[in-house]
Order: sequence, then structure tokens, then C-alpha cells
Amino acid sequence: KLDIAAKLARRLGASVREEIVHAVDRVDLRVRKGEVVGLVGESGCGKSTLGRIVAGILPQSEGEVFWNGENVAAMQGEAAKIGKLRRQMIFQDPYASLNPRMRVADIVGEAPLVHGLTTRGKFDGYVDEQMRRAGLDPAFKRRYPHQFSGGQRQRIGIARALAVAPEFIVCDEAVAALDVSIQAQILNLFMQLRKDLDLTYLFISHDLGVVEHLSDRVVIMYLGRVVEEAPTERVFAAANHPYTQSLLNSVPRIGNRKRAFTTVKGEIPSPLNPPPGCHFHPRCPHAFERCRVEVPVLREIAPGQRSACHLNDAA
Ligand code: SF4
Repeated sequence: KLDIAAKLARRLGASVREEIVHAVDRVDLRVRKGEVVGLVGESGCGKSTLGRIVAGILPQSEGEVFWNGENVAAMQGEAAKIGKLRRQMIFQDPYASLNPRMRVADIVGEAPLVHGLTTRGKFDGYVDEQMRRAGLDPAFKRRYPHQFSGGQRQRIGIARALAVAPEFIVCDEAVAALDVSIQAQILNLFMQLRKDLDLTYLFISHDLGVVEHLSDRVVIMYLGRVVEEAPTERVFAAANHPYTQSLLNSVPRIGNRKRAFTTVKGEIPSPLNPPPGCHFHPRCPHAFERCRVEVPVLREIAPGQRSACHLNDAA
């Protein structure tokens, strides 16, 4: 659970009372070594917050994060440093996370130099290797980020992440800002790197097509809670939760040419004041009285598939 105070209101000097947002609530997320888990949901559902928590960028106010079986809050010294380096994050807008005054060589090589993964003498060779892995020509390592295209900047972000020898990478909408043809290239690069470097990914996206293409397992979030999780094939063939079904019905799918598309009814409610009971009940076509008062528990409904819906109790 993460509490975010309304600092902006204070900064603006507005007479707005401080609110607490439970951006991520009661989430139990497990990612196995070598797996690609797709994390899906509409904007504001808490998926980016959850990604930042598991990558070690944001602290959680309650709950625990375990890395290789160890509670990261209890890790100290070298173990804590290594634990943090092994978990990296790649963002949607690489430009915003690249220092415009630094040359690519320094962007990619700074952290490994600081953490002793390379030396001044081996620096150039080390940077070249990371750039090649990310599909960049090392001949351009003296250039600045603004001298690259959007896709190349994303590759710089990937090279920077690879440079600290990660095992687990959180990709937060990492291809959302790119043209479709570039998206395909970057997605293929992620898959190649997974194979070559034995990487594990948490792939955050609102794009179900991307998630279906990449993921072994899919986790669906709604307003801070996980509502369904299942192997990818199962989600696309037999989604259980009404929210997952609505999401799937709102995107075109190959082989479903005659089906009418529908949108998810209504707007996602404010996380400042989420609906009681099942957060999805104001938008759910199957809602009944119990949904308005009782929070549904995420429970197994088929091997590997968990869903949080009271309809499963009635079945
Ligand atoms: Fe819909 Fe009720 Fe299931 Fe929530 S618990 S998804 S409101 S049927």
C-alpha cells in the first residue's frame, strides 16, 4: 500500500485538504525468474506505482518487497547495493530520463564505473559492448541524447540499464511513445536480450496486443488492486473478471472480425474516493448488491488463474 500526500496542493498554497491515495492496495505480485509478466490496466490504476516499488525507486508505506527470497528492506551493505542494481527500470519517455548535458558514453558508463563493474581503462570497451547489445553503433557514443531519434533514445535507456548487469527489468510503457515499426524493433530487442542474458521482465502496458505478444503471464489491475491474473493464453481465451472481459472487448483482435467492439462503461473513478466494495461495481454490467459493500477476494478459479469477483462464489 502506498500513501501519496497531496504535496501539489500545498505547493500551490491552495486551501485543499491533504488527501491520502492508496495507489496500490492489497497487491500480492510474484514474478518468477526468467518469466515475462505483463501488468495491464487503464491510466491511474496503480501499475506504474507498483512497477516503481518493485524496481526499488519508490518506497512503499506498508507491505514488503522480496528479492531472491530476501526482504529488500532488511538488506544491507553490498547485498543491498547489488539487489538494487539487479532491478532496473526502463521508462516510456527515455528523453526525460537522459541527462541532456551528458554524452551517451557517460550516460551508459557512469553507473558501472561508480559501482566498480568497469574501470577507467576498460571504460570505452565496456560502453561499446552495452551499446552494441542495445542495437546502437558505438561510433556515436560521443553524441548527446538530442542528436538521436526516439527509438535510438530508448536504446540508450536500454544500454544504460544493461550496463549494470540487471537480472530483472521493469519496462513502464517502454514502447508506447514510439512509432509502430520502431515498437516492433524494440520489442524484438527485449525478447532477444531475455534469451541472451536470461532476463526477467515486468512489462507494464495499457496495450493488450503488446502484452499478448511478450508475456508468459498477465496481471490485470483496477484502481490499485489486482483483479485477475492468469497465463497469457488463458486471459485471452477465457478471461474471468468482468473488467478483463471489458478490456478485451474494447480492442480489435485477429480472428474476431464479426464481433462488435465496446468500450469500458464510464470513467475510472478518482483514487481519492474509490467506490466501496468492488471498486469496479459502478462500471460493471453484472454488479449486484453484495458488490457494493464487500471487497471480493482474489482467489484461484482454475489452475494458475486467479480472479476477484463475487460471481465466482455464486457459481
Ligand atoms: Fe462486477 Fe461484482 Fe464481480 Fe465486481 S464483484 S466485477 S461488481 S460482478
